[in-house]
Amino acid sequence: MFEKQRKLMVEAQIKARGVKDKKVLKDFLKVPRHEFVPKELQDEAYNDCPLPIGNGQTISQPYIVALMTEALNLNKKDKVLEVGTGSGYQTAILAELAKKVYTIELYKELSERAENILKKSNYKNIHFIVGDGKKGFEKESPYDKIIITAAAKTLPESLLKQLKVEGIMVLPLGGGFVQHLLKITKLSKDKYKKEKLEDVLFVPLV
Ligand code: SAH
Repeated sequence: MFEKQRKLMVEAQIKARGVKDKKVLKDFLKVPRHEFVPKELQDEAYNDCPLPIGNGQTISQPYIVALMTEALNLNKKDKVLEVGTGSGYQTAILAELAKKVYTIELYKELSERAENILKKSNYKNIHFIVGDGKKGFEKESPYDKIIITAAAKTLPESLLKQLKVEGIMVLPLGGGFVQHLLKITKLSKDKYKKEKLEDVLFVPLV
């Protein structure tokens, strides 16, 4: 279902804007985005925009999910931490490319909804956590990659600590109407390289 729309989304929104990684593009052709949005919005699932998913939250725009995924440079050995499960769409995209995904969501209803959808799709490498993602999930740290899908006002120090040396963290940073999407590479225990990828607008990290 929606295969044509999915192909069009990848060509016109993702490839056309410069996402090149073949594994990432294949992943976006595979994961059925419409299953992660509310039923009444399924026809809009492949549009070039975020959509409401309940609890005042949104599923991110396809291009932004793709850009963040490409920046993480995932491989099948990676242990990934995701803050902000939301719809679970980004989680599925990550689970296809990484070994294991730990995903934290503040709202129980959203976490349970995402878990139901992802279990039905037979993902076995995702671990769901309800709670405050700012603290990370120390028990399973350090992580190869960390992705935050809500905007933080300042760099979350405890999450940087849970990142491996040479690991990558991607997050929207800033408190105003425009935030910067950043790729942070951990060079050593307390040295980081920061790159700005794009101006973005995310819901705030609570
Ligand atoms: N990747 C998701 C994005 C959802 S929007 C998707 O594409 O569907 C961001 C999500 O972060 C929301 O679900 C919101 O509830 C969650 N969130 C906000 N603050 C949080 C926090 N401190 N800890 C965990 N999740 C948080």
